[in-house]
Formats: sequence, structure tokens, C-alpha cells
Amino acid sequence: MPASLLLGDALAHEIGHVLLGGTDHAPGGIMKARWGKADFQDAAMGLLAFNSSERTAIWERLSVQSAGRVKKKLRQELEAPQDDAR
Ligand SMILES: [Zn+2]
Repeated sequence: MPASLLLGDALAHEIGHVLLGGTDHAPGGIMKARWGKADFQDAAMGLLAFNSSERTAIWERLSVQSAGRVKKKLRQELEAPQDDAR
């Protein structure tokens, strides 16, 4: 298995922890704690992935964070002095 594929999947696993907001692992897939021979075979074929509940959790966390940033930006724009009042 090319080292670049393994490194990519290892990084995806670690980024998954950040995006999921925790240290939990799954019984299978890219968030499995310890990869075995079958997982390395899946990785070599590009088949290691987040499961559906992980994908949903990541999407929801990013959506909440994004919505928070949009609200903050809108609040800043609404509270900023208006240039068109001149
Ligand atoms: Zn981990």
C-alpha cells in the first residue's frame, strides 16, 4: 500500500476527530481505532470512509458553526456605522 494513501487516511481520521469534536472511535470505517488487514485493503482501494452517522454529525456541526459565523457577520454589518448616511 502506498504510504501516501495511508498518510491521507490517517490524516482524515485525525481531522475526523476535530470535526466530530471528540475522541470516540467507530467499530469500522475510517474512524476505527485500530486498523487491521481488511482496513488496509479497503484503504488501498480508497474505500475507507466516514460512516453515515459520522457524515451527518460532521455536516450538522459545520452547519451550526457556519450559521454562527453568518449571524455574527450580519450582526457586525447591522451594527456598523452606515456610510450611505452622508
Ligand atoms: Zn482516533
